[in-house]
Amino acid sequence: MAAAETVIFRARYLLPIIGPCIENGALVVRNGRIDEIGDARRLAASHPAWQVVDFGDALVLPPMANAHTHLELTHIPYWDAFGAQKEVPGFTAWLLRLIGVLRGVPPEEFSVSLQDGIRQVLNSGTGAVGDILSRIHARQAYRHCPLRGRIFLEALGTDRHRNKRTLECLKKALDEKAPGAMTFGLAPHSLYTLSTEFLQGLTGLAARLHLTQSIHLAESPEETLFVRDAAGPFVEHLYPRIGWGDRIPPARELSPAGRMARLKLLRPGDLLVHGVQVSDADIDILAGMGVYVVLCPRSNHRLKVGKAPVSAYLNAGVALLLGTDSLASNDSLSLWDEMAFARQCYGEDLDPGTLLGMATYQGARALGLGGEMGALAPGYGAHFQVLKPADLPAIHDIESFLCRPGRTAEVQALYLDGKPCNP
Ligand SMILES: [Zn+2]
Repeated sequence: MAAAETVIFRARYLLPIIGPCIENGALVVRNGRIDEIGDARRLAASHPAWQVVDFGDALVLPPMANAHTHLELTHIPYWDAFGAQKEVPGFTAWLLRLIGVLRGVPPEEFSVSLQDGIRQVLNSGTGAVGDILSRIHARQAYRHCPLRGRIFLEALGTDRHRNKRTLECLKKALDEKAPGAMTFGLAPHSLYTLSTEFLQGLTGLAARLHLTQSIHLAESPEETLFVRDAAGPFVEHLYPRIGWGDRIPPARELSPAGRMARLKLLRPGDLLVHGVQVSDADIDILAGMGVYVVLCPRSNHRLKVGKAPVSAYLNAGVALLLGTDSLASNDSLSLWDEMAFARQCYGEDLDPGTLLGMATYQGARALGLGGEMGALAPGYGAHFQVLKPADLPAIHDIESFLCRPGRTAEVQALYLDGKPCNP
């Protein structure tokens, strides 16, 4: 093995996530993979011929894994020139506005927007995403990009003929290899935007192709009213305004989580996004299904849909992840900003160690990158971010420092496969 292929990366602190923080630590990287991790002086002394990259007073940890994004919508702040739907209540007004804005965007704009989203997440130290993509043609934006994770091809609809065509398009796209370093998943949008028949068609396709699914579930009280009682603003405003007024499904007399369980369409490892409007019984159901719940606290706060019951989830053993959602309901695509908000929002219910684990190790595992990304340990790919805050705390304060409310991260570099990849 040539010495030039082995590099020692040194920093004041290494945070492996699956082990304690190391002061004056180093990573030995051989051919893009982590070979050894430990004390910097010992490693440099025992391998004097190897190149050393010294990050100095910096902190090195695994990249962020943002489990829920819609990167194709990154340019929404530029596109949104519409007025609010004043006579329609909260969450429904937001949905109608979003639908209205997106109808006016030329198809080619989504690729440019997606490229910008990719640039923004990489710049914020993110190495993997669970990205929802509805404009399938835009997927080639991933072709030359170092990001990992899943592209969840999204579908929604209640019209039988149109759904058939959408399913054929999806099958064709899924026949190809996913672009770049990504893999494919499937995203049935939600219980309130899919006919049961189409939802079953999509989940059947996911099962046949062994694809992980991501679905928005239990986000708003409006969704619960719609599914359980066939009532509320979705029935009164959303469906009629988008031309679906004659396709309102019957009351299911079940919560959204209960309905999903009854349909038996989810498999262990699928991602349920939001999970805000859930009862204790729903949480037990989700724990039994072995699914992940992706929290998006800033989006939930902005749309005033409530707060996910984090301690109940953790007590029930539900695996939690963190996502930013899109810029249609958030200020940034940085998971650092999301962690800072989550700490403020959930307080002691979500301790810094758990939060950091969700944002890195757990997120990477859920996105199909277990053993590859999300930890600094021998055998993992050499994927890490380098932070250079103005002041570094003492070693015992590192985790709470990194999740401090109001904090913004100082990401200096992101390395994937041992190479710097910030655009
Ligand atoms: Zn979403």
